[in-house]
Amino acid sequence: MPSTTAASTVYDQLRTLKREAATIGSIEGLISWDQETYMPAGAAQARSEQMGLLARLGHERNTDPRLGELIGACESDSELMGDDRLAANIREMRRDYDLKTKLPSELVEELARVGSQAQEAWKGARKADDFKAFQPWLERMVTLTRRKAQCLSDGVELYDALLDEYEPGATAQQIEGVFTPLRERLSAFIQDIRQNGTPPDTAPLDTQIPATQQHAFGLRVLEALGFDLETGRLDVTTHPFCSGLAPGDTRLTTRYRDERFTDALYGTMHECGHGLYEQGLPKTPEFFGTPLSDSISLGIHESQSRMWENLVGRSRSFWVWALPIANACFDNALGAYTPDDMTRAVNTSTPSLIRVEADEGTYNLHVMLRFELERALISGDLGVEDVPGAWNERMKLMLGLDVPSNAKGCLQDVHWSFGLMGYFPTYTLGNLYASQFWEAIKRDIPDLEAGFEQGEFAPLLDWLRTNIHAHGRRYRAADLCEKVTGRPLSADPLMRHLESRIRPAYGLH
Ligand code: ZN
Repeated sequence: MPSTTAASTVYDQLRTLKREAATIGSIEGLISWDQETYMPAGAAQARSEQMGLLARLGHERNTDPRLGELIGACESDSELMGDDRLAANIREMRRDYDLKTKLPSELVEELARVGSQAQEAWKGARKADDFKAFQPWLERMVTLTRRKAQCLSDGVELYDALLDEYEPGATAQQIEGVFTPLRERLSAFIQDIRQNGTPPDTAPLDTQIPATQQHAFGLRVLEALGFDLETGRLDVTTHPFCSGLAPGDTRLTTRYRDERFTDALYGTMHECGHGLYEQGLPKTPEFFGTPLSDSISLGIHESQSRMWENLVGRSRSFWVWALPIANACFDNALGAYTPDDMTRAVNTSTPSLIRVEADEGTYNLHVMLRFELERALISGDLGVEDVPGAWNERMKLMLGLDVPSNAKGCLQDVHWSFGLMGYFPTYTLGNLYASQFWEAIKRDIPDLEAGFEQGEFAPLLDWLRTNIHAHGRRYRAADLCEKVTGRPLSADPLMRHLESRIRPAYGLH
């Protein structure tokens, strides 16, 4: 764009405001990363003041009426809107601005205040296995979250307005259309494995590996997958996450347990997938701070982490490459095992009660259960007092398990306590997108997995860079999926993937 026209002046002003807001956000990200990794406990009070100030500054920037005026001026500029990429950028800025300004600030504050109290109440209730103690707090959060949905909703199902914050453009009905067949097929699949399969030997996973050796191995894997350690780091934390802070600064975190080295390995590969996406987004001076430098949705972000963790990391070809390197780092502790032993062991699938400990085969059923319940809570079809009963009934139906306590049932996740409703489905959307992208990638690169055996992961990363990362938020998730795979999102690729990995591990063909 020529820099002398009035249009470009307006657009440049808009970009400057967005860049400042993003810079405030990156400082918030940096100090919260520090809080999770290195901050001394004594700094907690000062840190919460720092966080509060930055949150307020960021909110002011993002809801500045000047921002709304500049977006409006750009929208009425036909030259600017004639450029597809810039038009998409303006469209997404409008979306963000409307989302942030539609909510009354007293509601935002009340959600934050009650949410933080409800989260504390949840901690106590989970510890004491006392749903009744949490019930009034959950009732308040459901009421407040419904109010939030009413402010954001444009007449469709209320739940959609919540979902839209995490997965722009998705609706509960579309998701149900994919989840329902997936649910039926998964339940049948799990039953078949349980009745007819022979569980694989998981002894390789019990090998004791010191944290320092696991860390050295993790770094080797990160580098091979293409994570740039000149513009990123790997540190240790209690609850691992990835933070794409700013151009040239992507932080990964992991945690080590000597008695189960694959926890850290797959945790690191998962966060690495998020990190590769962050490093691949066009955070250039031209776009940093605008939607074109940002990720599409939580579902697409999760598709990247799940792809590297599961599609790559649990494949036989990955273990052909990784096992000798693991042995070099681990003093040959896995010397008695073959890549086939490792592959079978990491593809075990057993129904269990806790979502965050669930394996790839059963995980999505945990998510669907939560999707059904939170959708019913928001519509009013389910009362908060009936949550434990509805939870336990579905656990029996979907995973065949009796729930011994609410602590191991409906009190296990933190999300609802601070109003995260509409968020759970993005986990399964991530798995669905990952598998569907994977089939398209294998059509484009037939020798993809043969390359993994040689440690060649660059062709996969290049494909993801070109087809997904480079676009930022130019396309909606569902549109990008059709564009790169030629089909709307479907349960079929994920089912094919799970069957191709888990059945052989159980001696079924
Ligand atoms: Zn993730």
